[in-house]
Amino acid sequence: MLVEDITDLAIYAVDPRATILSWNSGAEITTGFSSDDMIGQSIVRLYTPQDLASNLPARELEQAMAVGRFESTGWRVRKDRTHFWAKVVVTALRNSANVLEGFGIVVQDLTAQRETERQQYEHALQLAARDAARLEAEERARELGDLVEQISAQTIELERRRAEADSAMRAKTDFLATMSHELLTPLNAIGGYASLLAMGLRGPLTAEQHADVERIRTSQLQLLSLINDLLNFSRIEAGHVAFTVGDVVVSEVVREVAEAMAPHVSERRLVEERAECPDAVVARADRSKVEQILLNLLSNAVKYTPPGGRITWTCSAADDRVRLTIRDTGHGIPADRLEDIFEPFVQVGRGFARPVEGAGLGLSISRDLARAMGGDLTVESAPNAGSAFTLDLPRAR
Ligand code: ADP
Repeated sequence: MLVEDITDLAIYAVDPRATILSWNSGAEITTGFSSDDMIGQSIVRLYTPQDLASNLPARELEQAMAVGRFESTGWRVRKDRTHFWAKVVVTALRNSANVLEGFGIVVQDLTAQRETERQQYEHALQLAARDAARLEAEERARELGDLVEQISAQTIELERRRAEADSAMRAKTDFLATMSHELLTPLNAIGGYASLLAMGLRGPLTAEQHADVERIRTSQLQLLSLINDLLNFSRIEAGHVAFTVGDVVVSEVVREVAEAMAPHVSERRLVEERAECPDAVVARADRSKVEQILLNLLSNAVKYTPPGGRITWTCSAADDRVRLTIRDTGHGIPADRLEDIFEPFVQVGRGFARPVEGAGLGLSISRDLARAMGGDLTVESAPNAGSAFTLDLPRAR
């Protein structure tokens, strides 16, 4: 009766051949089998197919018979075929003459406990993983911190170098400006006195003397244009250039510049044409600066195009931009020098076959001026295929 009333343990007795003799309420609750289901039946119904295949029921009883008691844990099967995790204790039952009468079997359902343990284990795993992640994150943060420190140290060093370079640049620009200015005074004097002589105001000149004086004047003018380039460049570099922005009809400027250069164009036996440049193409810019840029581009085209060549102007307007291109059939520029020519003092081919005079400042000045007006100056060219310089400017509304 005592055993019968226990509900949280399955307790049953079997005879030596494993046929069930008794089945308490705990056994009914644990397995779902009633005592009618089980009494007189074999215990094999409670085992999984794998355990049956390995003959576990017989081995359990044999062990218990040999040593008196056998204890194990494993999966057992309920009536509804679900499995439960069981702790099983099998005790051999002998009479006073020590003859085996059967076995007492106590089964405890530990499924819930096992599940709790599994959850605790997983929780512990998660905690460990989280700890590892936290440690790794801390390590990363430390590395990042180091990196940031390195970068800021490098930034400070770069700043220092930039300041150094800036002040070197300023010194150079100041030097250029002062020198150029100082050079202008004697140069103007040379020009003035040469003119006096040429006009015969100091007495008549022989034909030879006249030719010499002309050479002096030509050289003086060349030098003057070089120095003006230098002055212009140093003013732009120092940011001392003022812009008076207004509406500029591109075709007008092109015409004026072309007229001013016409003698040089025909002297070099070049053909100059304005392919298309409608009056409606109007830029928003400083007219005199545009003139200066175009003058530079046209005189380059004249300088670097052999006699018999052709110079063509085209212009167009699209959206908010105005575009003016001057194309020549000259000897062109190698691809790897296309950007260099916009650097100050750069002249392609200087040193071995420098055919023409100049300081190498014209394009640098022109691009600076174009960019200062919100535009740009670009080039397309290939050796022996001519060059096309394009001035891009904001369009007038
Ligand atoms: P400069 O004409 O005084 O040498 P620029 O800055 O105007 O200086 O031009 C730089 C260099 O670019 C020139 O020395 C020349 O090599 C090259 N260049 C400029 N325009 C042309 C052109 N239309 N065709 C070929 N080369 C050119």
